[in-house]
Amino acid sequence: MKIKTSDFVTSAVVPTQYPEDLLPEIAMVGRSNVGKSSTINTMLGRKKLARVSGTPGKTRTINFFVINKEFYLVDLPGYGYAKVSKSEKASWGKSIETYLSTRKNLQEVMLLVDIRHEPSNDDKMMYDWIRHFGFGTIVIATKSDKIPRGQRQKHFKIIRQKLQMSKEDKIIPISSLKKEGVDVLWDSIADLFTS
Ligand code: GDP
Repeated sequence: MKIKTSDFVTSAVVPTQYPEDLLPEIAMVGRSNVGKSSTINTMLGRKKLARVSGTPGKTRTINFFVINKEFYLVDLPGYGYAKVSKSEKASWGKSIETYLSTRKNLQEVMLLVDIRHEPSNDDKMMYDWIRHFGFGTIVIATKSDKIPRGQRQKHFKIIRQKLQMSKEDKIIPISSLKKEGVDVLWDSIADLFTS
């Protein structure tokens, strides 16, 4: 897929703040610091459209980016940041649950995990949750530059096992540092629109 235009449109917490035009949406979710903002910036070929956080756990809003005026890439707030209060965690959970359960034009939710580590219990819970809503066919393994190619299969296997992914589901390695994997990811997203 060729990215001709990408623009930040709005940030939302509650549904009345979501965009009204109901273009198809592809959402991205992952624990805070997994590299989600960097991945979005790399996907869009922009340096700072999504904020790369100096302070992890800061972004609490759902952020909507319109791509080629055809669909939205949706940045869901990162989870698992320890220094967040209970009430903040609850409001985070509520805003994501509301989005996942009510958004009719949502086409796919991609989970991001760090290629180096076995996914956490929070990652597993998040993945179960997005599966429950009928999504989760693409998992993005971030920071792939940290693992040499020859060792990646071993890491994919650990990720697949922990998340209990099915065979047809894809793991796509991405490096924002090396700008690797982005074309494969966009092609997989394009497939979602044609299938
Ligand atoms: P977010 O909290 O998930 O949005 O994560 P950020 O995009 O802010 O990235 C968190 C940290 O991981 C930052 O220090 C980034 O520089 C680093 N990071 C992000 N992507 C990559 C990558 O592809 N390779 C490496 N080596 N580091 C990365």
